[in-house]
Amino acid sequence: MQKLDELYRGKTKTLYNTDDPLLLILEFRNDISALNGQRIDKFCRKGMINNQFNYFIMSKLEKFGVLTQIEKLLSQSETLVKKLDMFPIECVIRNRAAGSFVKRFGIKEGFYLNPPIFELFLKNDCQNDPMINTSYCKTFKLVKKKYLSQIQKLTYQINEFLCNFFLKSDLILVDFKVEFGLYDNKIILGDEFSLDSARLWDRSTLDKMDKDIYRQNRLGLIEAYEAVLKRLDIQLT
Ligand code: UDP
Repeated sequence: MQKLDELYRGKTKTLYNTDDPLLLILEFRNDISALNGQRIDKFCRKGMINNQFNYFIMSKLEKFGVLTQIEKLLSQSETLVKKLDMFPIECVIRNRAAGSFVKRFGIKEGFYLNPPIFELFLKNDCQNDPMINTSYCKTFKLVKKKYLSQIQKLTYQINEFLCNFFLKSDLILVDFKVEFGLYDNKIILGDEFSLDSARLWDRSTLDKMDKDIYRQNRLGLIEAYEAVLKRLDIQLT
């Protein structure tokens, strides 16, 4: 597999073309960003941690029956992935109130949301990823109705599976964001599932073990990410 030119450079990851038109190389960099890119920093080891955490979780999801873009772990910070035709939406599930939800509704952080809340956001950095709903998807032709209902169902299934999975390691899955795309007319989980895109709390202390440590300007981000890996018995290569 030959790594070719850069296809897309995001805030924390880069996609490269390969000599196979159906496959891309996804590289996780050491960068981290908050406030829609207004704050950017670098953390040593973060790229390799996120790459291998993402690969581990996506592999678990594949075994559970979710189709994902991952093909092969290529190196410490790179994974070979399918080239998807991505939907321009972000799907968020919230099991507990946190982050923007707390600000929007004035609800106390940690409040149980039962059944979990499903939210949609438009992928549009210039407009700060505004919240949308099924009506927006229809009017702006973002996702076909049949795909959207499958995407919502899949996101809930991923949530149920991962909630139980993390709980076995005494971790609470507070919320997360996922993105999907089409490949061969099938809906495939793309982008990433990492501690940058999900909130995980310690079950007993409710300590945050995710990107909120950075968002809140606290120390110990990488230590927390590594503690999660240790709990899940993920050995870094
Ligand atoms: N999230 C993400 N990318 C975004 C926005 C949110 O991965 O551009 C994730 C975030 O890590 C959290 C969930 O989606 O797990 C809900 O985020 P929220 O809406 O609370 O936004 P935030 O507090 O990050 O601004």
